[in-house]
Amino acid sequence: MNELLDLKGFSGIGRGREKKVALMDPSKQCLICVPLTAKTVKKMLFQLELAKESGADVAELRVDLISGFDAAADLPVLLKDKPLPVIVTPRAKWEGGEYKGSEESRQDILRMAYDLGADYIDVELKVAGGFIQELRSRGKDSTTKIIVSNHNWDFTPSDEEIHATIEQMWATGGDIVKYVTTAQDITDVAQVFHFLSESKGPTIGLAMGPAGMISRLLAPKFGGYLTFGALCKGQESAPGQPTVQDLIEVYRVKSMDRDTMVYGVIGKPVYHSKGPVLHNKGFEELNLNKVYVPLLVDDFNKFMNVFNRPDFHGFSVTIPYKEDALKLCDRVENAAKIIGAVNTVVRETTGEYQGYNTDCEGALSAIEKGLRHSGLANNDETPLKGKLFVVIGAGGAGKALAYGAKERHARVVVANRNYERAKALAESVGGKAIELDQLSDFRPETGMILANSTSIGMEPEVTRSPIHKDALSAYALVFDAVYTPKQTQLLKDAAEMGAVTVSGEEMFYGQAFAQFRYFTDLPGKLRAPVSAQCSIGTYSRGRMISTRLGFDKLLQRGLYPNSAQFGMLMDKSQVQLVNLAFRC
Ligand code: NAP
Repeated sequence: MNELLDLKGFSGIGRGREKKVALMDPSKQCLICVPLTAKTVKKMLFQLELAKESGADVAELRVDLISGFDAAADLPVLLKDKPLPVIVTPRAKWEGGEYKGSEESRQDILRMAYDLGADYIDVELKVAGGFIQELRSRGKDSTTKIIVSNHNWDFTPSDEEIHATIEQMWATGGDIVKYVTTAQDITDVAQVFHFLSESKGPTIGLAMGPAGMISRLLAPKFGGYLTFGALCKGQESAPGQPTVQDLIEVYRVKSMDRDTMVYGVIGKPVYHSKGPVLHNKGFEELNLNKVYVPLLVDDFNKFMNVFNRPDFHGFSVTIPYKEDALKLCDRVENAAKIIGAVNTVVRETTGEYQGYNTDCEGALSAIEKGLRHSGLANNDETPLKGKLFVVIGAGGAGKALAYGAKERHARVVVANRNYERAKALAESVGGKAIELDQLSDFRPETGMILANSTSIGMEPEVTRSPIHKDALSAYALVFDAVYTPKQTQLLKDAAEMGAVTVSGEEMFYGQAFAQFRYFTDLPGKLRAPVSAQCSIGTYSRGRMISTRLGFDKLLQRGLYPNSAQFGMLMDKSQVQLVNLAFRC
C-alpha cells in the first residue's frame, strides 16, 4: 500500500489512529471552476469569456444573483455558444443563495437548464430526491450532469454525520455530490479530505472560511472533482475562496496529484506571507511534485498531530508558534535550542519532527552581504569579527541575531524594553545589556552594526523607529528585521545619516532559501531555484503571457517575485478586466 494513501490521523486527533480507505480514480483531474457573480446577463457573459481566458475548466452561473432574471429569455442567451462548460445554479435563500422568486419558479430554471443541455445543474439535497426522480422519469435524453449539493454555513459535522448525509445525497440519483462545510479550525479540513478520499463517485468537498483554505488548494490531491477559484479578489462566491490565478499560477493545482508532497507556513495571521509564492516557484523550477500552502493554525499541537502524515513533510513556523515548535519537535538542532525558537520543522520518515532555526542564517547572511557589497568588508570569512553589534529586542528574532553575531565573533550588546530579557540574552551570548532608552546616547565607538528585531515600525505604525535618528551616525550598517514596509522609518533615517541599510526582506529571502534546502533535501543545490528560470505569469491586454526572467537577474534588480508584487500583477489587471466587464 502506498503510504501516502494511509489516512492515519484523518478521522480524529492523535498520532495513533489509523483509517485506510479506497481512493477515487487518480487519473481524473480536478477541475477548476470559476463562480460568476455578475448582476446582469450581459456582464455574466463577459465574465464567462474572462473565466475561459483565466484557464478555468468550468464556470458556475449563479443566476440567483442576476437581478430580474427571466429564465425563458435569459437562459438560452447564457447557454448559447458558451466558451466553457457551465453549472447552472439558482441558489435558494434557504441554502445561502439569493434567489427571490418562488420555489416552483426556481425549480423551473433547473428544468429549463436541463432541457437546454447545460453541462451541469446544481440541486440542493433538501429538494433533490423528488426533483431528480421527476426529471429522470420524463424519459428525455440529456447529457446534463446533476450535482446534489449540501452546505453547512456554521461548522463541520462529525465524520459519521457527514457520511450519513453523503449516503442520502447518492440516494437521490444525482451524478455528483457536493458537500460543503465551514471550518472553525484548520483540523476540520481533515474530515473533508477524509470523505473526499473515500468517495464512491465524483465528489466536490470544501470547507468554507479562512481556516478552510487548504481544502480548496489541496482538493486535487485528495480526489476532489472540482475546486472553486474566484475571477479576482472581491468576486468570491464564498468565504475563503482563492482566485483562479492563485490556484493555477501559485499552487499549480492542475499538475497536483495524490503524490504531491505538502509544505506550508504555520502562523496566525498567515495570509500575508510571501512564502507560498517563493517556495512554489522554487518547486516549479526544480520540477518537484511539491506544494507550499498557508496554514492558518489556532492550536499548534493539535494541527501537528492531525496532519502528522508522510505527505505533509515540512513547515515554516511563524508568529506565534516558534516556541511551541521547539517544544513539540522530537529533535532540535543545537542553534535552534540555544536561540529558543524553531522556525522550520521537517517530518522524518519515522514520523518524528526535526526542528531548525533559519532566521539566524537568514539575518546574518543578509548583514554580511550588506557589509561586503558596500565595501565595509572584504571577502573575509567573518566580516563581523570584532565589530560592536547592537541588537534591539530580545524575542525570537533578537535571540537569532545575538546568537548569530556571537558565532561570528562580534561583540554583542542587547537593548530591550523588558530589561530582564535583555540581560538574560546578553549573558547567554557573553555580551552586555542596556536599557532601551539608553540606546540614543549609546555611542562608545563609531562603525557599529545595529539590528532591530522589535516590531516597531511595522505596518500600520510605519512612522515609528526604535532609535533617535541622530544616534544613527555612530553606525556603519543598520539592519531592520521588519519587512512590511520594506523601507522602514529606521532604514530611511539610517540612510540619511550615511549608514548602509539592509532590509528585513533580505533576511526573509535568506531564511526561506535555507528552509527550501531542508524541504528539498538538496543541500548542494541551494542556488538551484535562484539560478533556474522563473516564469512570472502576468496579464497584457486581457491575455495571459509568460515573462521569463532569471531568478538571479530578478534578485540583482530587487525584483524577486514576492507575493505582493505577484498579487498586484495578477489582481490589478484582473480588476481592470472585470471592471471592463461591468461597463459593457
Ligand atoms: P517576539 O518574539 O514577539 O519579540 C518581540 C520583541 O519586540 C521583544 O523584544 C519585544 O520586547 C519587542 N517589542 C514589541 N513591541 C515593542 C514596543 N512597542 N516597544 C519596544 N519593544 C517592543 O517577535 P519576533 O519573532 O522576535 O519578531 C520580531 C520582529 O521581527 C517582527 O516584526 C517580525 O515580523 C520580524 N521578523 C522578521 C523576519 C524576517 O524574515 N525578516 C523573521 C522573523 C521575525 P519585550 O521583550 O519588552 O516584550
